[in-house]
Amino acid sequence: MHTEKIDFIIIGGGLSGIYAAFLLAQKKKSLVLLEARSRLGGRILSFEHQGFFADLGSSWYWPMINPKVNALVKSLGLEGYPQFETGLGRFQARDGHTETIAGYPMEPPGWRLTCGMISLVKGLCARTPKDIIRLNHPVCEIERLDNGVQVTVGRHDQEPKCRIKASGIILALPPRLAASSILFTPDMSYDLCQAMLKASTWMAGHAKFFALYDQADWRKIGLSGQGFSLCGPLGEIHDGSNETGRPYGLTGFVGIPALRRRNKEGVIQAILTQLSLLYGKAAAQPVKIYYQNWAMEEFTATEYDQWSAHNHPEFLPPSGKTSIWDGTFHFAGTETADHLGGYLEGALSSAERAVLAAI
Ligand SMILES: Cc1cc2nc3c(=O)[nH]c(=O)nc-3n(C[C@H](O)[C@H](O)[C@H](O)COP(=O)(O)OP(=O)(O)OC[C@H]3O[C@@H](n4cnc5c(N)ncnc54)[C@H](O)[C@@H]3O)c2cc1C
Repeated sequence: MHTEKIDFIIIGGGLSGIYAAFLLAQKKKSLVLLEARSRLGGRILSFEHQGFFADLGSSWYWPMINPKVNALVKSLGLEGYPQFETGLGRFQARDGHTETIAGYPMEPPGWRLTCGMISLVKGLCARTPKDIIRLNHPVCEIERLDNGVQVTVGRHDQEPKCRIKASGIILALPPRLAASSILFTPDMSYDLCQAMLKASTWMAGHAKFFALYDQADWRKIGLSGQGFSLCGPLGEIHDGSNETGRPYGLTGFVGIPALRRRNKEGVIQAILTQLSLLYGKAAAQPVKIYYQNWAMEEFTATEYDQWSAHNHPEFLPPSGKTSIWDGTFHFAGTETADHLGGYLEGALSSAERAVLAAI
């Protein structure tokens, strides 16, 4: 096992970590980004089908209230388009009874990215040195040294894969996940540990569904694709198509709590039945479906997220500070943002804050 020494280690390759890496690389700092999964993006996950990108994690940004995301979209040369909302909505009552209702346009308007939310991640990666990104590198221990920090990569039940020393680290993952899965030496204070565990991870308890169709039959009968249901399985549904048309999409959030949706095939069948009730028979026969259960994702959710799907994150470190260990350890990640924590905007602002504190 070799040990290397650099300026900074960024832990987590979601939007926050990648943005921090992009900013630090611009400052000519030596760094590595350690990502546990075999892919970058974290809660950004877009699947491509015939040039169409289905977002199974975050899908919208709100240009009017997300200045940092909006600026990044523009600086990366990406194209966005407003959520399709033309037409009537559908409503399903607790007893399953359905009715057609007026639609509720998003306020402020939500926009999607033509090449999926993952294009933000791809764009940043293309502008960051390739050799700094290490996939399949789960961090299991972080230790403070006299002159910096040491990070151990591996799993708690296996031999460590490698150790890396640096002058400082940026921890860009949900605080609750970090407190549940990483060993810290010296110990985090009891109060800080509690603050980390209590900061709920936004959307970690959710599951998302995406169905693709050759035709948008719901549009032909005056429906926008928007739907709300009190009985589920999907609680909220939207048209997920992009502006160019085919394939068209319906997408939604599963309303059943994580602990009650362990039977994936059963949930998918129930969703298709629900879609046909709301949008007509053809909606039960998509050409392609995607289902992503975030609550089962080891590198997103913990046992605390299985019920608390709807809490907005609030990270309240006891000192009020998001840098500890005499300025060698900096929290980033959307849950630690002062404003719009949980959202993409918070992922970017927390990365900026951490980088400013680190350099
Ligand atoms: C279903 C869903 C829908 C959403 N919709 C929207 C939306 O429409 N608009 C919006 O603004 N936001 C939305 N969000 C939230 C948005 O996705 C997040 O705010 C954002 O992606 C968080 O980025 P992050 O980098 O802070 O965290 P994450 O994306 O969670 O990144 C953390 C990274 O750390 C990695 N990691 C975890 N543990 C370790 C470890 N031990 N060692 C190394 N790496 C580790 C993870 O694999 C991950 O890549 C949604 C989220 C979900 C799940």
